[in-house]
Amino acid sequence: MVVPIVSVIGGGQLARMMAPGAAELGVHLRVLVESETSSAAQVVVDAPVGQAHDADAIRALVQGSNVLTFEHEHVSNDLLRELIAQGVSVQPGPDALLQAQDKIVMRRRLTEMGVPCPAWAPLSRAKDAARTELEAFISEHGPEVVVKTARGGYDGKGVRVVSSATEVEDWFEATTAGGPDLLVEAKVPFTRELAVLVARRPSGQSVTWPVVESIQREGVCSEVIAPAPNLTVEEAEEARQIALTIAGGLGVTGVLAVEMFETVDEQGERHMFVNELAMRPHNSGHWTITGSVTSQFEQHLRAVLDLPLGSTEPTVTWTVMANVLGSTRDSLTEGLEEVAAKFPEAKVNVYGKETRPGRKLGHVNVSGDDLDEVLHRATSAAAILRGESLGE
Ligand code: ADP
Repeated sequence: MVVPIVSVIGGGQLARMMAPGAAELGVHLRVLVESETSSAAQVVVDAPVGQAHDADAIRALVQGSNVLTFEHEHVSNDLLRELIAQGVSVQPGPDALLQAQDKIVMRRRLTEMGVPCPAWAPLSRAKDAARTELEAFISEHGPEVVVKTARGGYDGKGVRVVSSATEVEDWFEATTAGGPDLLVEAKVPFTRELAVLVARRPSGQSVTWPVVESIQREGVCSEVIAPAPNLTVEEAEEARQIALTIAGGLGVTGVLAVEMFETVDEQGERHMFVNELAMRPHNSGHWTITGSVTSQFEQHLRAVLDLPLGSTEPTVTWTVMANVLGSTRDSLTEGLEEVAAKFPEAKVNVYGKETRPGRKLGHVNVSGDDLDEVLHRATSAAAILRGESLGE
């Protein structure tokens, strides 16, 4: 049998974590890495060095591949269309990917599809018009609103809570100078953030994992609880249906993460609003590596190869994923001995990245039957890897 080759653009931890699934399935993983020391380059044998914006590097990458996929959305859709015209299977395709690249395109499309979103409006590129539009939006939905750059934001960069147009004067300038378009959203008074992970094959089969709660600190995901506590079966089903509607409606293939806000109205009823989409394995799905029959990384490979999808059932009652964001250690591995001794059940995942403040350097998964205990142990293990003393 011919071994299928899956080519991936981007050599960060998401591509790195595809390696175990690829090895198990007998799939050949080829990853375009930013440098020889990139996270994925340390574990993937076939890792040509090249940049995501380098068309020649990508043309070379797909030679002999069965499919091209991504670990980030920063790719040229024109190039992807060219490759498709030449017969390359690109999963997800550029029309779907555009919705994860541009928040204005995404909001417009989801609104058309009837998917619940925060109230929103695009802002004009001309400064004076944008100022007037933003002030009008603040009068209607304020006092506080959320201004976002349509493209290029991640981990909360490109998101600003403001109560007057003067607070984004620098962004208006940047847009005038050729920078990204801006949009404004009502500030959702959410009780918490949820995420639903879907996997979808080109031939249509779609599955979801249980809805999770994602806890953010300063715009960055810090912990994920799977499944999200205190959701009724109906609420979880509603969230899963929203995610399936998006996956099918946009023609997404591979893994799609749908980030949502949960609100509770005066009658105590919960509602979901879609915040963001990511068309690739996502931080909110790292718990699946140890907490579900099929991890999101293995599933992504199955989905882009149009293989039948694996079971998304959890294998345990609770799994908590705690991110390691920055560390005072030179390498997280220095903390392994202490974590292993104190928390033998902790599943540590180190990304092999250089330490920088706030950077996602690794994560820890802990599973069990007592949520408080699981949460405590996962966050304590992550704290050790960050270099904090637990005071014992
Ligand atoms: P990024 O693309 O940088 O991840 P997001 O659009 O996901 O940006 O926003 C980052 C964070 O900002 C969210 O996780 C949420 O906490 C907050 N946020 C974004 N949009 C809104 C909104 N409309 N209302 C309230 N909070 C928001």
